[in-house]
Amino acid sequence: LPEQEAFDIEYWLLEEAKLKRLPKPKSMAGRVAFITGGAGGIGSASAERLLREGCNVVLADIDQTALDEVVSGFGKRYGRDMVRGVVMDVTSEAAVIAAVEYTVGEYGGLDVVVNNAGITSAAAVEDTTLAMWSRTMDILSTGYFLVGREGYRVLKAQGLGGSMVFVSSKNGVAASPGASAYCTAKAAEIHLARCMALEGAPMGIRVNVVNPDAVLRGSKIWKGEWSEQRAASNKIAVSELEEHYRKRSLLQRSVFPEDIAEAVCFFASDLSAKSTGNFLNVDAGNAVSFTR
Ligand code: NAD
Repeated sequence: LPEQEAFDIEYWLLEEAKLKRLPKPKSMAGRVAFITGGAGGIGSASAERLLREGCNVVLADIDQTALDEVVSGFGKRYGRDMVRGVVMDVTSEAAVIAAVEYTVGEYGGLDVVVNNAGITSAAAVEDTTLAMWSRTMDILSTGYFLVGREGYRVLKAQGLGGSMVFVSSKNGVAASPGASAYCTAKAAEIHLARCMALEGAPMGIRVNVVNPDAVLRGSKIWKGEWSEQRAASNKIAVSELEEHYRKRSLLQRSVFPEDIAEAVCFFASDLSAKSTGNFLNVDAGNAVSFTR
């Protein structure tokens, strides 16, 4: 072999040997995940994704009827011992503390926290009342803070590290017309995740963010006022919205709750062991260019 080629082969053999010595990502089986908004589109898809990995999952949601239905369906498919539901309003500090305690009581610990419960708020700044603004901030930013803080406290006390995933939004990075309170609250979630990533790193607590673009199918927030406002601002009918977002995307593909769930699972698992304080857009490429 020419000298250079021999060197290259030696080099790559060495690299390969090193790779073989790297620890494989550990299985997620038996890990405990707490997911807010678990009765909704993205929350339940994320729960199902983690159940498929063998996690025990606790779904927390304010909507008892929807929650019971989702938990019962998962119980039948994955085993009743694998999943629990807890009715909880993310704006209530006492309820959040109780729900996280319940999770630890049921499954003996906590490994993954998915901050996801949310609402929308459709109004231009000049039409936004203080009540609308405060409600949006309470459920989104403050809700993410309360759940994030309680999860963080448990993970820190356990001393085993852990992963927190915040489902923010494309709107947390880019402004959207007629959604100032929502966009601002979503931006705060991203920055809170960064602050928590900074503080949690010495304890092996990772905090990352998933930013979905429009996910219409399966999502309750797309039923009603939000859809009407989005359709009006794009000068199309509500029935045309899904196709509108698909065509607008770089990949020409719609984004589904299951797509967001894959990103949540990635950040929840050891596959993302070297990522913290990051965000991942799941937007079929929309964030690539300002001019599209
Ligand atoms: P969804 O309405 O289907 O689910 C949200 C869930 O949160 C619902 O089950 C609801 O009952 C619950 N919830 C609302 N207020 C609550 C409260 N105070 N306490 C506890 N639970 C509460 O919506 P989704 O599309 O699954 O959205 C999930 C998250 O993803 C939200 O944070 C949303 O902002 C974000 N997101 C969604 C989209 C989208 O297009 N669907 C895009 C970007 C970001």
